[in-house]
Amino acid sequence: MAHLDGLDHRPVDAIADAATLRLRLAIQLNDENIEPDRVIKDLVDAVDGGILGSASGRFFGWVIGGALPAALAADWLAAAWDNNATLYASGPAAAVVEEVAGAWLKDILGLPQHASFALVSGCQMAHVTSLAAARHALLAKRGWDVEEKGLYGAPPIRIISSNQRHGSIDRAVRLLGFGSSHVTYLTDIAEFESALDTSTPTIVLLQAGDINTGYFDSFATLIPKAKQAGAWVHIDAAFGLWAAASPRYRHLLGGAELADSWATDGHKWLNTPFDCGYAFIADPEAHRAAVSHRAAYLTHADDARDQIDWNPDWSRRARGFSTYAALRQLGRKGVADLVDRCCAHARSIVMGISDMPGAELVSEPVINQGIFRFLDPAGIDHDRRTDQIIAAINRTGEAFFTGTTWKGFRAMRVSVCNWRTSQADVERTLDCIKGVLECQST
Ligand SMILES: *Cc1c(COP(=O)(O)O)cnc(C)c1O
Repeated sequence: MAHLDGLDHRPVDAIADAATLRLRLAIQLNDENIEPDRVIKDLVDAVDGGILGSASGRFFGWVIGGALPAALAADWLAAAWDNNATLYASGPAAAVVEEVAGAWLKDILGLPQHASFALVSGCQMAHVTSLAAARHALLAKRGWDVEEKGLYGAPPIRIISSNQRHGSIDRAVRLLGFGSSHVTYLTDIAEFESALDTSTPTIVLLQAGDINTGYFDSFATLIPKAKQAGAWVHIDAAFGLWAAASPRYRHLLGGAELADSWATDGHKWLNTPFDCGYAFIADPEAHRAAVSHRAAYLTHADDARDQIDWNPDWSRRARGFSTYAALRQLGRKGVADLVDRCCAHARSIVMGISDMPGAELVSEPVINQGIFRFLDPAGIDHDRRTDQIIAAINRTGEAFFTGTTWKGFRAMRVSVCNWRTSQADVERTLDCIKGVLECQST
């Protein structure tokens, strides 16, 4: 609670370096036990300055949400209750809460109610779960049992993706044994059409909310073409799927409901604590066939949810509680309002900075992400200037941003996905950046 209460007063960036943290933390492991209160007090003292202020309303780095009070408290309860949410039998309430949370999520995100789902550790594992289902379905259609025979000798699966995909897609492809050389990266729709052929099992990977620009693929155009060619369509919608909760931004996801699987996160825009992603799969049988496991020593439920049938992990925390609590705290309107507010703040920051002397707009926010860069007054090295300004802003402790390389040049990213970010935070951030630019121009 002290940490949260101090967010407005402490620097947003971490101020302790690795050497200092090691000096305090890498002590001799004690032989004898230590009182739990003291262990915790020592830990809090030792990490001082090494906790990044990512819970702050002035944190705009990467894509990192905050934690809603009810979601945070529910997560603490999940740890205290300490049920293993792998079977109904090992955590009955956790299983029922996941059942309910899954239905609420499908509803609020505009996904088909018949879709199956899994609450996984993040969008990365949501991709792995979804693409394991895709692999099953595409190969089963060709008479190949991939769970039994593996990929040795199987008909090769081709993967078509936009060239703006997130790196978690590449990792899922690697982990599932597809091999990155089987991925074709496309840049336009004409290429997309000629790349589709019905004779090769194909997975099409689309993007809802690009990490830098917030861009959405045109689902209504692309998905019917892909489905006609018999492809499995998966959407990386780590944060972009939440636009569906807002009447103002929902149109960006038009046609997305026609896909076969969707991956998103709770720990980003819904503002649950970390360790919370969601996979949704339109074909529950393919999902179950890829993941389910039965063992003699387990106790399986006939009329309730055994998470092990849907999740790639075995023992797991009851991560459904924080999702359930977040959705109840906000309600349907609150989720829409959170989305709208973050998008409005992102726009104010991006446009506000772009208006400052020496700044240049690179991409206006489509939703809650935008990018711009800083021009070298000497006209020589804009990349270096951009990285220098980002570092200078972060050094003030007033706000925190990260950079990216976009179309070959360095840019500064703005990502707003914290319920805490207020108009006052936006103004404080703009004042800080104005000060940094003034100081750096002299
Ligand atoms: C964050 C992100 C991911 C990975 O999600 P994790 O929850 O970190 O596993 C995938 N795709 C996009 C677009 C993201 O922003």
